[in-house]
Amino acid sequence: MSKTRIVILGAGYGGMITSKRLGKLLKAGEADVTLINKHDYHYLTTELHKTAAGTEPDSKIALPITQFIDQEKVTFKKGTVSSIDYSGNKVLLEGGEKVNYDYLVVSLGFHVSTFGIPGIKEHAFEVRSFRSSKTIYHHIQRQFALYKEDEDPSRLTFVVAGAGFTGVEVVGELVVKLPELAEEYNIPFDKVRIVNVEAAPTILPGSADAAVDYASRILDKRGVEVKTSTKVLECKEDNIITDNGDLPSRTLIWTCGVQGHHLFEGTGIETVQGRAVVDEYLRIPTLKNVFCIGDNSYFKTGEKTPLPPTAQVALQQAPVCGDNIVGTIRGTELRKFEYHHKGSVASLSEHYGVGEVGGALLKGKIAAAMKKVIGYRYLFFLGGPSLMLKHFFGGGTSLA
Ligand code: FAD
Ligand code: NAD
Repeated sequence: MSKTRIVILGAGYGGMITSKRLGKLLKAGEADVTLINKHDYHYLTTELHKTAAGTEPDSKIALPITQFIDQEKVTFKKGTVSSIDYSGNKVLLEGGEKVNYDYLVVSLGFHVSTFGIPGIKEHAFEVRSFRSSKTIYHHIQRQFALYKEDEDPSRLTFVVAGAGFTGVEVVGELVVKLPELAEEYNIPFDKVRIVNVEAAPTILPGSADAAVDYASRILDKRGVEVKTSTKVLECKEDNIITDNGDLPSRTLIWTCGVQGHHLFEGTGIETVQGRAVVDEYLRIPTLKNVFCIGDNSYFKTGEKTPLPPTAQVALQQAPVCGDNIVGTIRGTELRKFEYHHKGSVASLSEHYGVGEVGGALLKGKIAAAMKKVIGYRYLFFLGGPSLMLKHFFGGGTSLA
């Protein structure tokens, strides 16, 4: 009899931790596990705002996948998934290769929502992946270089649309990096504008009033022009049109929300905002051999609101997903997924942060430190104490 084939799509938080769990639980020869990812590195999505602003070296954000999986039990395959044939149990990769599976885990992360707003796809920048975030930093550097030639003020107006958690975290890094770049290019910093545009009446909509007040004060103190109740309507190469006037700028960093992956489109799978609805065992209800976790999944129990697309959710789902695949293969009882919210913290630069943990408001240095602790905890989980210490004391992990 041929061995059971388990295929995991995406080596983000969900995919990496599911791979690790399967590596730990499966006996030698019990199943073939293949982890497929677009790149041979795993990036820390929760730190991409730093890559976008150039405040953290690449070695602290992008980590070689094969170093962190049990290669005796899990095979890594570099490839981009182009479609999934759920009835034929096959994954199709760009280039035409087909990968057959008995059990599938879909953990391909998010896509950025553009809401069909004209010019966003063409001219705005997304904090979506390591590469897309790196592109932002290169673009910013180029604007400083070009300003030296043409002194066009639109080059030094940096606009972040959306003041949810991603938006404020990006702005928080820009306030650190842009003065450094101004100095490097010998341009007076008063020529530089950082603008944060938010459609809702406040930044961090949905957060406690005290958190909103604190974050607003910090951004104001750091010279950020926050424009609330202002919606981006269109983006051109050198101008951003809002319902509150134009912003001549060549940099729109778009952080206006996320949705699931387009790979579910036209498959008949029930989705909400592009996220596949999953059952209590994290399976797609109509396909009991397909599991879906992280930002790709829409998990809802009873009348409760669905879980948000966060790393915290993906990291709690991954071990349950691994256990349930093994449970299904062995015919043992499956685990119901239960989410335990531990809080959420946004950084507002190296030294400031804001959020809530255990129902209590955290702000300032304690909140910034808390976001770091959460990051180190993940590194510990992924690669043990050596990985965590390497990132804490040194330059991170080299891809070479
Ligand atoms: P991801 O981690 O996004 O991984 C998806 C993987 O799939 C990637 O490796 C990608 O390369 C790969 N992939 C995508 N498409 C394909 C394809 N077609 N073929 C092959 N591979 C593919 N959440 C928190 O809980 N706490 C935080 O502090 C926090 N901070 C954040 C900060 C920022 C700047 C951002 C953008 C998000 C933050 N989030 C945070 C949200 C969190 O990062 C996501 O919810 C989390 O990454 C989801 O994990 P995932 O495993 O579903 O997907
Ligand atoms: P979001 O949906 O939370 O925020 C998007 C913001 O953009 C909203 O405030 C919305 O009002 C605004 N917006 C939408 N359309 C607009 C327009 N046309 N013009 C101006 N503003 C507009 O998205 P996000 O911040 O990318 O977060 C995505 C997910 O990732 C969330 O679940 C979030 O909690 C999570 N996340 C968590 C952290 C953290 O815990 N530190 C950090 C980043 C992201």
